[in-house]
Amino acid sequence: MRAAVLEAVKKITIRTDVPEPAIGPRDVLVRSKACGLCGTDVHIFEGDFFPTFPLIPGHELAGEVVAVGDEVTDLAPGDRVMVDPTVTCEECHFCMINRQNHCLHWNAVGVTRDGGFAELVRVPAKNCYRFERVSFSEAAFCEPLACVVFGQDRARIEIGSEILVIGAGPIGQLHLQASRANGAASVTVVDVMESKLDLAKRLGAAHVVRADADQEASLRKIAKYGFDVVIDATGSARVLQDSIKYVKSGGKYLVFGVCGPTETVSLSPFEIYRRDLEIIGSFAIRRTYDRAFKLMEAGVIDVKPLLHEAIPIEDLARGLELMKTGKAPMKLQVVW
Ligand SMILES: [Zn+2]
Ligand SMILES: [Zn+2]
Repeated sequence: MRAAVLEAVKKITIRTDVPEPAIGPRDVLVRSKACGLCGTDVHIFEGDFFPTFPLIPGHELAGEVVAVGDEVTDLAPGDRVMVDPTVTCEECHFCMINRQNHCLHWNAVGVTRDGGFAELVRVPAKNCYRFERVSFSEAAFCEPLACVVFGQDRARIEIGSEILVIGAGPIGQLHLQASRANGAASVTVVDVMESKLDLAKRLGAAHVVRADADQEASLRKIAKYGFDVVIDATGSARVLQDSIKYVKSGGKYLVFGVCGPTETVSLSPFEIYRRDLEIIGSFAIRRTYDRAFKLMEAGVIDVKPLLHEAIPIEDLARGLELMKTGKAPMKLQVVW
């Protein structure tokens, strides 16, 4: 079969001779139809984390079931499914206390085991969610949305909150919509790109602000005392360090964008203490796939305007480069 194989750090090869994966009794074989590229893929490509080579990346996957294992009763060939990439053991301490994203044997399709940038993918049946009404491209968007839903849970957004989202790429636009669905009184969005800010306006941002020298003055005009929740959707350590000041005293900062594992920031412990700040992390997905899908299916969150370009598998390296250099205005997906 055809697949994009990461053979080593920064070395991706499109091969046509990759053997079809064999499935176990509780697995299904999925024919990939759409698989999104994300910042995590860039980190994997750069060797930042989980480098076990060779690896077929791709963790934002939707496709069609072509075969099911002997013990699978709820899925059948022909079913359209989206795939929660998180593979957990359900036996360790963290699984038992419902923190499955910290499973001691955590794996993820397309991150630590072969994923969706291949014609066929082996996934556990329990990771598949059947769908009908949305397209494969929308369904593949359920993965980042499930991450965003978990992040929103972590931030415990209260009705009537004023929210600041920094970064208006696909993740920022999802947080904008999710914050509104969570009852935010207003969502302000910051980005460097005018086109992304225009989209944020269309998707319900109360205010949009260009990230430039006037940014602080503009944000202070919108929220004199700061915002109840600030969400970083850039994955830039510098942005994080510079934007803690926009959290209202007693408010929260959600670290959502993924920085490199060796990056650090300098924070004032006195400020965190004196201003009652909460700094909150949010890693991947924790049982949020079903709710994410319902939000999408019900039209509460619209992912269609966030799709930028469908690319063939042969263009994966180009796509990753666009992501890395910030030139991909919105979500790129490999489609088959
Ligand atoms: Zn992702
Ligand atoms: Zn576990």
